[in-house]
Amino acid sequence: MELKLYLTFVIFVFGLIFGSFFNVVGWRLPAGLSLVKPGSFCPKCKHRLKWYELIPLVSYVIQGGKCRKCKQKIPKFYFIVELMTGVLYALAFWIFGLSFEFVLAILTISFFVIVVVSDSNYLIIPDEVTFFFSVVIIFVRFIMNGPKDALIYLLFGIGAFFLMYVLMLFGNFIFKKESLGGGDIKLMFFVGCAVGPWMSLFTIFLSSFIALPLSLILYFNNKDSVIPYGPFLLIACLVIIMFKLDINFILGLGI
Ligand SMILES: [Zn+2]
Repeated sequence: MELKLYLTFVIFVFGLIFGSFFNVVGWRLPAGLSLVKPGSFCPKCKHRLKWYELIPLVSYVIQGGKCRKCKQKIPKFYFIVELMTGVLYALAFWIFGLSFEFVLAILTISFFVIVVVSDSNYLIIPDEVTFFFSVVIIFVRFIMNGPKDALIYLLFGIGAFFLMYVLMLFGNFIFKKESLGGGDIKLMFFVGCAVGPWMSLFTIFLSSFIALPLSLILYFNNKDSVIPYGPFLLIACLVIIMFKLDINFILGLGI
């Protein structure tokens, strides 16, 4: 028990570090900027951050959420993204231990965090990111469960992609405007590779279910607001993985 607690904490710290990197990926990749150069800087005064200003969570708390140089407030968004990654990584380890499911969960969490940053700031899900995580997930399936499993789930990914594509055509026809972004459709390829055909369908259902109340609130506050759908698809996919939901769960719902 004590060892598990200790390891969970280690994974939490790794999550914080990765979360801080995902912030960089989500902000820079859609803007066409390099991920490594220049090093991190204050978005307000461009002051280059020293190593001790880059410690996830800790630096933010010590500096009271402000830049050391210009004393401007650092958006809480960075802090929340780091913390969220750490907590979700730790949770995945606590539930699954070191296992295939843990790797699957970690990949989905990482993809989710980057999509939250890029989609909510630019309404873009960079293709490179979707491609990267899809390839890695197929590769992990290949290593853990052999070529047959990898090939089957690759086909599930392609199936989920086309399902979403058909839904988009259908939505465009009904609403007479663009209903789904290209990024969301490509994202479904990853979902198919991660959870298979039935749970891909359920991901679409569950994500709409989660997104709907939030969309309504935002819509009544500001009728022009655009809500990115990508994060909801991935949070639904993550719920399915973390709670180990499968076809029996859907059948049990009686829908
Ligand atoms: Zn500054």
